[in-house]
Amino acid sequence: MKTLVFLDLDNTLFQTRQKCPTKDALQFPVAYLRDGSAHSFMTAKQRQFWQLLNANATIIPTTARDLDALQRVQLPFHSWSIIDHGGVILNPAGIADVYWHDHMVAASQAAQPDLIELLAVINTEIAQHNLAARAQIVEDFNLPFYVVVKYLNGKIADLDRLQQDAVQPWVIAHATNYQLHRNANNLSVLPRTISKEHAVRYLIKRFSNEWGDLLTIGIGDSVSDGAFMAACDYAITPSDSQLFNATLNHLSL
Ligand SMILES: [Mg+2]
Repeated sequence: MKTLVFLDLDNTLFQTRQKCPTKDALQFPVAYLRDGSAHSFMTAKQRQFWQLLNANATIIPTTARDLDALQRVQLPFHSWSIIDHGGVILNPAGIADVYWHDHMVAASQAAQPDLIELLAVINTEIAQHNLAARAQIVEDFNLPFYVVVKYLNGKIADLDRLQQDAVQPWVIAHATNYQLHRNANNLSVLPRTISKEHAVRYLIKRFSNEWGDLLTIGIGDSVSDGAFMAACDYAITPSDSQLFNATLNHLSL
């Protein structure tokens, strides 16, 4: 039976140097900025975890990274990849899966007026209250997928305020079709048609037809990863991750 691992990358398999635990001295650079400087690092434990998975399973990166950012991860991925929060699925040759792409063209077109409206709502709030934040619609493969907002100049309180006063109310009013993802660095609003979960379910179905029974494992750190992890036979999250702290941590002494 084949084993498939759907693996989130950032803050699951590696993280920026600031987020590396200092007690774990050995750090291995694995992801780079466009200028070539090392940006994200594996700890010794993360590297051992990667080696364990890589030796025993087919690894499918399941990430919010776009194609450019995925290509700046220096790990030997040999199989399919889910990128852009599930907006794009790449086959092992690195080509976008045609069926999925056509499906996402429709999803992207349907969401576009709402994303433009939301961006305007956010930009108005930023201007009115002089907030240190920047919003944009994230595109890849010429498709607009979702809105992301980041804070500037270390002013995370401005992002919190923007979330509370402008983004959250908009998402609540559009809750049937949109959801909010929040982590320490940014917030995103995604159409419900675009998700890692949909992409994972599509690949599991496709591979089951091809290979029969599969063992599937979902691994991620964010609460928003929970849905795709729940589509797998087993779910793994790093201790002290956002997802761990929202779930298993309540069960420990
Ligand atoms: Mg992550």
